[in-house]
Amino acid sequence: MINKKEIIVSCPTCKKKLLYNPESSYRPFCSPACKDDDLIAWSDQEFKIKGQEMSDEDLQEEERKQKRNQNGR
Ligand SMILES: [Zn+2]
Repeated sequence: MINKKEIIVSCPTCKKKLLYNPESSYRPFCSPACKDDDLIAWSDQEFKIKGQEMSDEDLQEEERKQKRNQNGR
């Protein structure tokens, strides 16, 4: 058994390895800049598909879904 709770993830934007810190508000990204970059990239696609604006809650929900997909094996 390994007692460490540290999880290493790759930043989805720049692919840099980083420690997945539950207290980090921009996880799984390495920095706020990378998070913004990714959000802009995929939310722009969402706008085109749905043709409507997404609220902050929607964005957070989408983020949760993405994380579930990444973590669920
Ligand atoms: Zn990054």
